[in-house]
Amino acid sequence: MSVIDASRQETGMEGAQGLHLQSNEVEEDFSRRMERVAEQASSYAATLRRCTACVLPETFPGISFNDQGVCSICQNFQEPEYPGLEKLSSDLQDQLTPNGKVLVCLSGGRDSCYILHLIHEFGFDVIAYTYDWGMVTTAARENMSRMCGDLGIEHVLVSPDIRQNRVRIHRALRAWLKKPKLGTIPILMAGDKPYFRWAREIARERGDIPAVLADHPMETTGFKAMLAGATFSPNQAGGVSYRLGPTGMAKMALSYGLHAAQSPGMFPALFKEGLTGFVDYYLRKHDFVRPFSYIPWEEEQLEELLRSKYDWSSGEDRSSSSWRMGDGTAPFYNLMYQIGLGMTEHDTLRSNQIRYGLMERSEAITRLETDNRFNSLGLASYFVTVGIDLQWAGSRIEEFAFQSLGHEGN
Ligand SMILES: [Zn+2]
Repeated sequence: MSVIDASRQETGMEGAQGLHLQSNEVEEDFSRRMERVAEQASSYAATLRRCTACVLPETFPGISFNDQGVCSICQNFQEPEYPGLEKLSSDLQDQLTPNGKVLVCLSGGRDSCYILHLIHEFGFDVIAYTYDWGMVTTAARENMSRMCGDLGIEHVLVSPDIRQNRVRIHRALRAWLKKPKLGTIPILMAGDKPYFRWAREIARERGDIPAVLADHPMETTGFKAMLAGATFSPNQAGGVSYRLGPTGMAKMALSYGLHAAQSPGMFPALFKEGLTGFVDYYLRKHDFVRPFSYIPWEEEQLEELLRSKYDWSSGEDRSSSSWRMGDGTAPFYNLMYQIGLGMTEHDTLRSNQIRYGLMERSEAITRLETDNRFNSLGLASYFVTVGIDLQWAGSRIEEFAFQSLGHEGN
């Protein structure tokens, strides 16, 4: 494994520690208070009007319903055609440079691990690449090292100065908690966005080799940008799209700017990352090979294969869903979205699966009970990792819940 230090400063692997609290390490009082908030938020979620075809609630940004109660996103949805595995393999073959290597972006979550397996099975000479911005979970890390070891794959790990990155997240998160606003949550994750830039950089360094990215059209988190005023065309909101039009961008920048003016601590801390993250994520062209535009994304098959072949773990004790398992911030922002909107990104994921014909609505509802189960340990781990006091953060979250849900916090 080679470690590239993105900031050219001393990092070492000490940053790898931190995101892995045991239940006896979390103050019981904190867990109890947060459980209560989470319960209030799910009661609120249960009262919302939802699409009769998918499960999106009336609070989803920009949504409307027709007479049958079907939402605007379902009405505008068109299922894509999948060219299939052979086409994927031949397209990759066409892009190979003389050294025959392929770069696979690896986060340690289910999807990217599966794609690593698949591309290796095809017989390509794979290099795995991970960007660790300080929020990659222990389970994700273990999966990656086990798989790369088993397959004998070179693993390039790009790591910015993790300690410094966590200090920045600390400041931004403190400022955010003082004045919570759903539209600016993505700024707290801005640190992970250089991911794309470094993938391209390494692909170029290794001889302009093709780069493979395991995102999939089910994975739509466009609503996060929409909360800040971005607008996507309906079909874009239903699929993977990172590019924003100029109006959407201006609105989003304005919304971020307004929040910055209200919470001055937020921006100096993340300004640089936020800005480069913004440019990388929303403006730059992403020319990756995306296997999940060739084959349907079938959650259970992927996971089953990984478990049986690589002893892969979803890290279930720490996060109820393996989709966002590579990301230690998910328990936090999903609770915030649940409080503010009565939904999480899992509601958008399951809704997409329904639209793509991969899941029945009734099953989605059952799955969501597990997906949206509050993860107290994950939340505490996030705060502790970035050095935020649990009691203080707990009070701020109670206050946010009180303002949004109108219940007494205790
Ligand atoms: Zn719908």
